[in-house]
Amino acid sequence: MGPASVVALPLRTRFRGITTRELALVEGPAGWGEFCPFVEYDDAEALAWWRCAREAAYEGWPAPVREQVEVNTTVPAVGPEHAHRIVAASGARTAKVKVAEKGQDAARTLTDDLVRVEAVRDALGAGGQVRVDANGGWDVDGAVAAIRALARAAGGLEYVEQPCASVDELAAVRRRVDVPVAADESIRRAEDPLLVVRAEAADVAVLKVAPLGGVRAALRMAEEIGLPCVVSSAVESSVGLAAGLALAGALPDLPYACGLGTADLLAADVVTAPLHPVSGVLDVPRHPPVPDLELLARYDADPDAREWWTARLRRVQALAGAPAPPA
Ligand SMILES: [Mg+2]
Repeated sequence: MGPASVVALPLRTRFRGITTRELALVEGPAGWGEFCPFVEYDDAEALAWWRCAREAAYEGWPAPVREQVEVNTTVPAVGPEHAHRIVAASGARTAKVKVAEKGQDAARTLTDDLVRVEAVRDALGAGGQVRVDANGGWDVDGAVAAIRALARAAGGLEYVEQPCASVDELAAVRRRVDVPVAADESIRRAEDPLLVVRAEAADVAVLKVAPLGGVRAALRMAEEIGLPCVVSSAVESSVGLAAGLALAGALPDLPYACGLGTADLLAADVVTAPLHPVSGVLDVPRHPPVPDLELLARYDADPDAREWWTARLRRVQALAGAPAPPA
């Protein structure tokens, strides 16, 4: 089965070094699924992303236990005025701030990070929550120093996400700082996601529905991990975001705002009513939204990209075996 559509959606701000989000959409008896592993991932890593798309298109999702999910606004590594504007415009009570971006020298980066979180706190007010995400960008000593400085500048941090790359480093940082540590890449891209738990390396688990293989697989993972969970996105279109919301809606406990407000990072979407949060809240959908044909045509990927995604999807489907028959 080939993709129903391959699109290239423009991003408002550079993210993971890209300015356009390419993705494939499939349609099945249960609805629409999004297949959107990042282009540098190999087929083995892309397999879970296909299982997530297949669940949405062929099985549907389990019933939610809540109707709405609070989400954070995401602040990329931008200057303080821009950061302030993003947070103020979002209406969210929680902001996730990207820090430790590579490219400049470490001291300069930390200075930029400090003024960014200060601006974010100013925009949120005292009642809001600031969390930071380093995407594994620090070593242990650098993380400890940066987290202490950022916590002071932000007037308190809700948690720090993936301060270092390895599980051992996360555990070492966690022993030395008071700020809770969240594991993201250490769960999503790990051979053994439970290593984080055994090593006592994290207080919070960040779950992404696509790299974990869908809503049901992520619910099983959450149960095994046994830590408070935050559901985050991989900058999907609203079709893929809906799967993340289905997971957030179905988790037994959801103590933190989720990272599912990322439709705001896209300058275009495939549906006429994108999942933009209102005052930091999103409704939990029962089914994936249906893409709009005119939008699919407008953001249709170029022929080379379409061919590449079609071939990738076929290879990954072959790895996965035949789709489950409709229920
Ligand atoms: Mg992260």
